[in-house]
Amino acid sequence: MAANITDILAAARKHTDEVILPNVDGWNEAGKWPRAASAMAAAVGLTGLYAPEEWGGQGLPLGEGIRVYEELGRGDGAYAFTLSMHNICTFATCGYGTDAFKEKWARDLTSGRKLANFALTEPQSGSDATNMYTRAVINDNGTWTINGAKAWVSLAGEADVYLTVVKTTDKPGHQDMAMIAIPKDTPGLTFGPKYETPSYEFLPLAEMYMDNVVVSEDNIILPVGQGLQGALMAIDIARVSIASGCCGLMQAALDTALSYAKDRKMFGRKNLDLDGIQWMLGDVATNLEASKHLYRAAANALGTPEGPLMAAHAKRFVPDAAVDAANTCTQVLGGMGLLKPYGMDRLSRLSQMLRIVDGTTEVSRVVIGRALQKRAKTLPSLPIPKGYGE
Ligand SMILES: Cc1cc2nc3c(=O)[nH]c(=O)nc-3n(C[C@H](O)[C@H](O)[C@H](O)COP(=O)(O)OP(=O)(O)OC[C@H]3O[C@@H](n4cnc5c(N)ncnc54)[C@H](O)[C@@H]3O)c2cc1C
Repeated sequence: MAANITDILAAARKHTDEVILPNVDGWNEAGKWPRAASAMAAAVGLTGLYAPEEWGGQGLPLGEGIRVYEELGRGDGAYAFTLSMHNICTFATCGYGTDAFKEKWARDLTSGRKLANFALTEPQSGSDATNMYTRAVINDNGTWTINGAKAWVSLAGEADVYLTVVKTTDKPGHQDMAMIAIPKDTPGLTFGPKYETPSYEFLPLAEMYMDNVVVSEDNIILPVGQGLQGALMAIDIARVSIASGCCGLMQAALDTALSYAKDRKMFGRKNLDLDGIQWMLGDVATNLEASKHLYRAAANALGTPEGPLMAAHAKRFVPDAAVDAANTCTQVLGGMGLLKPYGMDRLSRLSQMLRIVDGTTEVSRVVIGRALQKRAKTLPSLPIPKGYGE
């Protein structure tokens, strides 16, 4: 029987309160992925959310499982994002991996004994994902030899396997793309220096280099022709997961502001008694409610024809609302909002990062714009005065 979402959400809430919040500043100071913490998340079922039970997963539908990041995002948006990527890779492994690959990896991934991540971005291809160079040659014995470089790989050197999007010809475009899993210990796979980030320092981010990396055909996750399409499906799940995490971040910002403003004395009363402060925080609360409804609707639409557009709406609206919430709540604390112990600066930096990763706000606008053009074609034309339509 699939796990009960109420129990999983309670476990995620407890993980946030007992593991993330008391330790996240220490993780950032140490600058290392907190593997012991992700093992604790795994122990309560947070690393195989959508994977079937036969492979040790929780068997939750996406529409339910994605709510976990709302809980984790209240602790830390980068930690929530990283576990969401692992869960998507685990879902892809169980859904699309070969029998041999599943047998070797699925239980280790659902149990969190091993961690996975996804490598699509390259130095020259971020938003423009089709401009990719990483190239696989398919050998006569079925193995693939891979050469190239990926950029912005999360959990670089920490994850045990990387679901990597590659090209299989020199032709431009995406018709020849595939996705193949490269285990960390494969000869020829190396990582560049860890990027220096202003926050979320515990998340190792780096380039990943493939120098004649040879991988078995057992590791093919998406065959030639389906690599980019599959990656975009994974990114839609990631976009909604990020929106979910952003709701947790907004809740954290709002709660910090309320906790402070209710006791801060000014003008003979409390900061929270001022109409202007209530209005500022009221707008954050409204945006938070709207964001929750939007990401949950988008999560339920995943896998349907509306999924990509709904994911774009959620990724466009919610991280922007989170940036605004973090800034507004910082302002409510006055000077105290700038001090490290209140954590507002961490939330601001995380919210900005979440606007970029897995498709920027602008890329979401492009997706939404294309959908509007499509709809316009179905609408009757209005009379256009002479000269206006030419
Ligand atoms: C913390 C973090 C973790 C990440 N982890 C991973 C990972 O694990 N695996 C992975 O593959 N990738 C990862 N990424 C990469 C991420 O997905 C890319 O950063 C993102 O897709 C944007 O690409 P870019 O940074 O190259 O920006 P660019 O593509 O260079 O964009 C620059 C600017 O141009 C804007 N822009 C782009 N297209 C348009 C347009 N048509 N119209 C108007 N403006 C436009 C963008 O919105 C942006 O503001 C990560 C990134 C971050 C920040």
